[in-house]
Amino acid sequence: MDRLLHVEIELGQARALVAETTELVREAQRLHGLSHTAAAALGRALTGAVLLGCLQKNQQDRLTLTFRGDGPLSPVVCVADGQGRVKGCLENPQLELPLKPNGKLDVGGGVGHTGRLTVVRDLGLKEPYVGQTNLSSGEIAEDLALYLTASEQTPSLVALGVRLEKGVVCAAGGVLVQPLPGCTEEVLQRLEGLAPGLTALSDRIAADGSAAALVEDVFAGLDHQVLEEQQPAYRCDCSRERIERALLSMGREELQSLIEEQHGAEVCCHFCDKRYNFTQQELEGLLRQDPA
Ligand SMILES: [Zn+2]
Repeated sequence: MDRLLHVEIELGQARALVAETTELVREAQRLHGLSHTAAAALGRALTGAVLLGCLQKNQQDRLTLTFRGDGPLSPVVCVADGQGRVKGCLENPQLELPLKPNGKLDVGGGVGHTGRLTVVRDLGLKEPYVGQTNLSSGEIAEDLALYLTASEQTPSLVALGVRLEKGVVCAAGGVLVQPLPGCTEEVLQRLEGLAPGLTALSDRIAADGSAAALVEDVFAGLDHQVLEEQQPAYRCDCSRERIERALLSMGREELQSLIEEQHGAEVCCHFCDKRYNFTQQELEGLLRQDPA
């Protein structure tokens, strides 16, 4: 089972979230038939969404991350809630890109090196909170760190890793570290010192495989305590009702032409590939319900 741990560092001078997301990324790979590059890109984005989602105060709050770059996998969209439930999709899921000269999967090339990251936080209020930054590299972790620092004014260390073996996701996870008000200069420097060690994150997860071991490994030199544990998972919350609303939002004319030209519709959920079929009579019923 995947796990996410909330960790208090140096008696509240900083906090960290440490997630092992191997199973949910593997589920995304199975659902979408992801290529190696797409599995790394979507896996990192899903893990990042889980980390940012679990930072939220309320478990019902929803967070949507949209990485819109100039690469062929963009846009990459992930939706997470405060309980670690997450879903995601991207363009051209089966497209494979050549490896980078250093032998790594080219996530930045897939997402695109230039573009925008948009973060929408739906906190159950009238208007959602919307933040935006330019993409830093398209490699996902750097983009999220830049967003948190520049747009939400919370300097953060973000590391994400997805490792594949024989084409299948074998390890995935992430770490997010944030200094809190009152953090001393000394602790701040030690937190910054963690960054170089986080580059091989997915190798560490592959070697041991548990979030608890990762916490011990990463924060060995700092006072730390696990406060809370959550269980992230891939979950799509689509329903026939939601799909009906999406159909209606296309507009009456579009719906009318589906009826006249196709005498029905098959709609596929982007997040889980579930298919919903509507007969001509059902579509006509929707049109009649629509007060517009
Ligand atoms: Zn779905």
